Amino acid sequence: MPSPVQPNPDGLLNAIREACGSPAPHEWGDWRWQLENSITDPEWVAEALQLPWGREHEADHLLSTFPMSVTPYYLSLVQRADWRDPILRQCVPDPAELRNRQAASPDPLAEERDSPVPGLVHRYPDRALLVTTNWCATHCRHCMRKRTWSTARYTHSVETLEPAFAYLQEHAGIREVIVSGGDPLLLPETVLSTLLERIHAIPSVEVIRIGTRLPVVLPQRFTSAFCERLAAWGPVWVATHFNHPAELTTGAIEACGRLCRAGIPIVNQTVLLRGVNDRADVLRELFTGLLRARVKPYYLFHGDPVAGALHFRTGVEKGLALMAELQGRLSGLALPTFAIDLPDGHGKVRLHPTGACGISGDGAALYKSYRDATVRYT
Ligand SMILES: *Cc1c(COP(=O)(O)O)cnc(C)c1O
Ligand code: SF4
Repeated sequence: MPSPVQPNPDGLLNAIREACGSPAPHEWGDWRWQLENSITDPEWVAEALQLPWGREHEADHLLSTFPMSVTPYYLSLVQRADWRDPILRQCVPDPAELRNRQAASPDPLAEERDSPVPGLVHRYPDRALLVTTNWCATHCRHCMRKRTWSTARYTHSVETLEPAFAYLQEHAGIREVIVSGGDPLLLPETVLSTLLERIHAIPSVEVIRIGTRLPVVLPQRFTSAFCERLAAWGPVWVATHFNHPAELTTGAIEACGRLCRAGIPIVNQTVLLRGVNDRADVLRELFTGLLRARVKPYYLFHGDPVAGALHFRTGVEKGLALMAELQGRLSGLALPTFAIDLPDGHGKVRLHPTGACGISGDGAALYKSYRDATVRYT
């Protein structure tokens, strides 16, 4: 079996560790240490990796608009000292974030409009999304909620979510609650357990889905005890967000394994990102690696037109072409669904490379096989 991708191809992990003051292994493995030592200055990264920075004149404006924050662990996954590295692209601010912001929206999916009570987004009949905090362990540069970073960090308390609980209670059609953020798994544990307990206690809610990127940016958080406490409010599912095979480290795979063993199935939502994962070989390695980690690739999202993230968008055609290249060659289990999120809260649409390609002269339907043969089907 191929081994998971190991970080540190040319001593970069060590460079990051040294720049962090060479923490002892027990510190490095402690999620609190990781959060406390988060890196918020791109120049620090430039120095640690001996990369030219040269963005001084824009840095202040950039950082006050879309601040940086990354765990030392996530930064240490860097594969090469180059700003185009897929890990660096996801966590270090890029002056491109400030361009064309007028052409995009801070909230293209109109989440704020579809929010009947504070913290809750109710768009689909049978599920609702609960935004619990704007705090994340790492600020992903492509984030669709990056509009919330420049305001002070907030986390809802159980009290401020009372109207949301009441709403869920009154709307029995809601069978699934997606606990989201920010990252809900950064909430103080007492708040988190009370919150999950309250949702679990609503008879019409059958499933809780927790949206979190911690398996990717802070896998240290998933001790067996923590996973078991989460599973107590079952059925609990975790939806996570791996974008690149370099993120599938031994530590991340072990974290997923502990969630699975506690009884929590995991699905993954990848965002298609230009210069990060917009290649068939990268996606193939990512999706098959996720399967080995017992994580089901669920969605591949086309990038939303979010202000500050336009430079990551690939075009929908590109996504469809990549899916066409992968399907049939990859286990069906490893294939996610390609989807776009329509503007103004119209919701997600699943897109598929077209398989039907017309009707033959005698009226039989024609389909394209994965090997590109045109085949009759009567
Ligand atoms: C994406 C999303 C969901 C979940 O959709 P699924 O297709 O079930 O994953 C629910 N509510 C909102 C507001 C969403 O944006
Ligand atoms: S973890 Fe999610 S919400 Fe947080 S910055 Fe990344 S994409 Fe955005």
